[in-house]
Amino acid sequence: MKTCHPIQTLEATGIVNAGITLRHGGVSRAPYASLNLAHHVDDDASAVTANRQIFFQHTGLVDVLYCRQIHSACVIDVDGESVHTGEAANPAMTITCRDSEAGSADATLTLGNLRQSVRHYMSGIKSGQHRHAPYSDSIKTGDALVSAQRGVALGIFTADCVPVFILDIATPAIGIAHAGWRGTLSRVAVNALARMKTRFGTIAENCLIHLGPSIQKCCYTVSPELITQFAEHFGSTVHDKKHLSLQTANIRQLVEAGVPAASISVSPFCTACCTDNFYSHRAEREITGRMLSFIELR
Ligand SMILES: [Zn+2]
Repeated sequence: MKTCHPIQTLEATGIVNAGITLRHGGVSRAPYASLNLAHHVDDDASAVTANRQIFFQHTGLVDVLYCRQIHSACVIDVDGESVHTGEAANPAMTITCRDSEAGSADATLTLGNLRQSVRHYMSGIKSGQHRHAPYSDSIKTGDALVSAQRGVALGIFTADCVPVFILDIATPAIGIAHAGWRGTLSRVAVNALARMKTRFGTIAENCLIHLGPSIQKCCYTVSPELITQFAEHFGSTVHDKKHLSLQTANIRQLVEAGVPAASISVSPFCTACCTDNFYSHRAEREITGRMLSFIELR
């Protein structure tokens, strides 16, 4: 059974593994059937643990680093020292980042302690100590991760929101962002790109971007207020009065940031139209599983 959809435009470069999981081949029951990879959605914890083992077996990945997602513009620098809140283009949307684990006074994040945390998390799965502890296995709060380390996979959970894959083919370096409407308005993908520039010297012109399976304009009915807000930021092409295109809004901001339009690809799959293959928060009335999007420098 196919459990993962590869991102071919990125994998064709030969320098990354990149994909998004499908909902098939796991052990979760409805409404999470069947390959739900997220612990924070009230699925049976042992099923999620089994699903993660299936995911690792099928992809050959060893770790996936991810964060506690809060629909912010916060970027986590996996290789370096800190969380980058970003001087978001829309400051009103900026949410202060904070450590996900209560009592953790250390804001410094290094690859060393991340790996240690991941090992702890893996052993936690075996002992079952993470039951009923949503997100306790994540490291930081934020909505994007960046890295230039080989063999470090970065992950984002979604079920309608846009997973934005970023590959700087020159450096090389990678990023991944979680862009729902809040993240899109606060320009989380551009913030990730900005962080890659300051941290790794990434130039936008050298980046390939992929917007993964997510809810598309056909199914994304939103309020007139949100339409107005998006039109003010991204122009009239992002909507048709009732429906919003998060993909177009992300393309618009990435092109403004210097990414060539020809270097941005968009998945043809709308998650709400394709609930046979993907989870959709909206189409499944908010109770469903999550796909995991991942990218790793080989
Ligand atoms: Zn649709």
